[in-house]
Amino acid sequence: MLQKIVRREIFCKSVLVKTGIKGFEYCINPYTGCSHACHYCYASFMCRFSGHQERWGSFVDIKVNSADILLKQLKGRKKPNGKVLIGTVTDAYQPDEAEYGITRSILEILADYRMLEVHILTKSNLVRRDISVLKRLDNCKVGFTITTMNPRIARIMEPGAPPPQMRISAAEELIKSGIPVWVFIAPIIPGITDTEESLSTLFHTLHEAGICEIMTDYLNPYPAVVRRLKNVYRRFFPNSLPMLDEYLIQPEIYRNSIKNRLEKYLGK
Ligand code: SF4
Repeated sequence: MLQKIVRREIFCKSVLVKTGIKGFEYCINPYTGCSHACHYCYASFMCRFSGHQERWGSFVDIKVNSADILLKQLKGRKKPNGKVLIGTVTDAYQPDEAEYGITRSILEILADYRMLEVHILTKSNLVRRDISVLKRLDNCKVGFTITTMNPRIARIMEPGAPPPQMRISAAEELIKSGIPVWVFIAPIIPGITDTEESLSTLFHTLHEAGICEIMTDYLNPYPAVVRRLKNVYRRFFPNSLPMLDEYLIQPEIYRNSIKNRLEKYLGK
């Protein structure tokens, strides 16, 4: 399922971008595209704006001038303040980040200027590399997206992302270093990651790892996402396809029933 990644170095005009995401004033995406290639990803809408014709998950543009542009933005007349979320339409810890260090350079600048409260959302254990910088940031928080602890399901659904156990290990290391960590269980994938076994294993693992803050979200049924997912279901999880169809027909009924089950786990 892993595909060849086309990489390009590009120059961006802006790093700190205003966002409509609830609770945040800004977002930062150091890359365009994402080699984690999750089949349920709805950030693929980015292709419409970036002009990419390639399949989502098969390209990564590396914004090599990010540090210079961010410095200019922070030194500008309009001083930004509030919360910034890093990684809204990409994962800021792409495999290329190990070589390029774009996200790290952004964090170093944010730590020097201390104007913004920094939050990161990632699926990568590479974030551990930056613990020393994260500790310099005021109120910094790191979120790990984890949909399942089942390595086979994760490999199929998120073929380019590090396995969930590596994310848990990274989360534990961050917690030990004093950095607050939360987990985003999203999306809950009908008939696949919503089973009793899948959810109880996941919640048990999070509990054992000392993760107390959890957010969940449902599948966003954008047409492109549904098309991609149906192919994956047909190939790997044909018995679960009726559950996806049921969700697509009556999302509210599904959401209410899952909500009750999630509350039970959260209560525990
Ligand atoms: S890690 Fe996030 S941005 Fe990247 S493909 Fe997966 S869902 Fe999309």
